[in-house]
Parts: sequence; C-alpha cells; structure tokens
Amino acid sequence: MDLNESVRTPASWVVVGLDNGGTCNNATVLDATGQFLVEHMTESPSRVQEGPELAVEALAEAFASVLDLTSTPLTLVRAVGLDTPGPASAGGVISSKGSTNFSQVAWRGFDIRGALEARIGLPVVYNNDANAAALYAHHRHFGASAMQRSSVAAIVGTGLGGGVVEAGRVIRGTVGMAGELGHVQIPLHGVLEDGQPIPQCNCGFAGDVESIASLTGITNNLLPYWLGRFPDHPLAAEPVAKAAKQLRGYGEKEDPLALSVFAQQAKAIGKLFTIAANFTDPSAYFLGGGVVEAAPSFRAWFLDLVREHTQLRREQTAAATFALVPDLDMAGARGAAVAALESVRNA
Ligand SMILES: [Zn+2]
Repeated sequence: MDLNESVRTPASWVVVGLDNGGTCNNATVLDATGQFLVEHMTESPSRVQEGPELAVEALAEAFASVLDLTSTPLTLVRAVGLDTPGPASAGGVISSKGSTNFSQVAWRGFDIRGALEARIGLPVVYNNDANAAALYAHHRHFGASAMQRSSVAAIVGTGLGGGVVEAGRVIRGTVGMAGELGHVQIPLHGVLEDGQPIPQCNCGFAGDVESIASLTGITNNLLPYWLGRFPDHPLAAEPVAKAAKQLRGYGEKEDPLALSVFAQQAKAIGKLFTIAANFTDPSAYFLGGGVVEAAPSFRAWFLDLVREHTQLRREQTAAATFALVPDLDMAGARGAAVAALESVRNA
C-alpha cells in the first residue's frame, strides 16, 4: 500500500504502528515514503486482562518482533503510533471509570501512552481505535491528496466508533472526545416505526446513533422490538444477545426481520452523516465494522441505504464519496502508524 507515491525516496527512517485490542496486539511498520512493510496481520497476545504492567510489556514485545520480522534496525525508528479501545483521553490515559477492555482496577487512569514511551524510549503518539481506523481509511482512500481532504467515519461494532478527519488529521477535541459519533443524538423521524420505543444508550442518552447502529443497540433496543412483530421468527427462541450476533447471517439471506433491523441502522447512520454534512462538509463518508465483512450484496445494500438517507445539498452530492473502511482488521495498527508518520513530518 502506498500513501504517497509521488515523493518516494529510499526509506531513511520508519515509524511503527501498534494496535492494542482486548485479546491481541497487531503491529506494522510504515516507512518515510508512506509504504507499509507488513502486508498481513502480525498478532500476539495483548495480555490486557493481566493488568497494565504485563500489557505494556506485551506491546514492547510486539514492537520488537515486528522490527525483527521486517529486518528493521531499531535506530531507524523515529516514533511509534499506539491505538487502544476507548474511553481514554487524547493523550492515552485510560478512563478513570475503566472500560470494557481495561476492566482491572489498575487500568483506571493509567497512562498507557506514557508507560510505553518510557518502556521503549521512543516518542509514542496515541489515538483511540476508532480514530486510528478513520485516519487509515482517509489516507488509504485519498492517497497523495489526503492532507487536503476531510472525512467522517462510522464504525459499527459492539458500540459505534467514529472519527472526524480534517485536512488529513484527526480532530481530537479539548479532552479527546471529538468524533464520539455514537453519542450524537439524531432525529428519529423516518428511522423508528410508529409506536416503537425510543432506543436507550448505555451512555445515558436516548435516541443517539449507538442506541440503534451497534450490536448493543440491536440487543437492547431493536431486536426486542422487532421480535415482537415477528413472534414466530426462529431467533425468538434464542437468548437475545445470541440472537443479535446471528442477525447478520439472516440479513445476508434477506430475512425480513433482519433487513428491518439493519435498515433502521442504515437510516440512523444516514441521519448522522446528514449532521456531518452540515458540520464539516466532508469529502468522504466512511462506513466500517461487521458490515464490511458481510456478503457483497448485503454490504452494497447497506451502504446504498446509508447514502439514500444522507441528505446532502446538490453541490455536496456531486463532490462527496461514500466508501467502506478497508482492511478493517489492520486499520488500527495502520492508522496508528499514519498518525506517527505525520507527527514526525511535522516535528
Ligand atoms: Zn450513547
């Protein structure tokens, strides 16, 4: 993958990208010309459940082994990009309330960025995983013109992650909470059915994007409602959390209940993108998450529905693109590396 073909010179230095997840770390190396030196996943255990100390050690090991894999001398590394699941501050301090991935008490308020920087003795640039994926999608899509373009990305998973990129850089906000697109409240007219209860989000909001367009939203809100309308559906016999995970498979087979649920998700994301259109007027709208891995016809149906429910002005329709976030399993590490590369270029 080439980010910047026009300025290719022999690589004089590199950055490393480290994606920290609930079970695995993934690592990559990006050279000064924007070329990734790793084609595939390089997974190793993240050990986050064993607490911060062992997890930072696991990141240091992932760092050393990706250098080994690519025969890159340590002396060529200028910076390291790190991404983790949130919530965390813009500077990589895990939320004091803890989080799903960082459940141990020792993680609360832990500065994972600073700890890794101290451990490996190189500057570490932090992003949350959704921002890193958004950044990668942006740079991959726009290539050499990335620094002149803007985009928004919505990534549907357990929650709804997002990222806002302006002139090639992630908007972080004052305390790192910019781009929390899942908790943007949207107009529900045209999304919900008559009489459908207002979906509730774990964050305390009602009717935000995540309350609809996430696995949690399906489990807590959409599936219970739609099963009430399809009482004889085979999923009615399953526990709701298990049924929610099976729903995409039904969607790929054009099951009416599943399509009703996913249509509501696509409409909700369309409403979100309509807000984005009036907020940053981006050049591209990216969609990522499980839907990217779905069967091509289902994926195309979903993206078309998102596009159809995003109300753009005529000039915007002519200029903007809708696309899927590519290489989602590698997008975190690659986006983290892109952020590190930019920080070196601008140092
Ligand atoms: Zn919320």
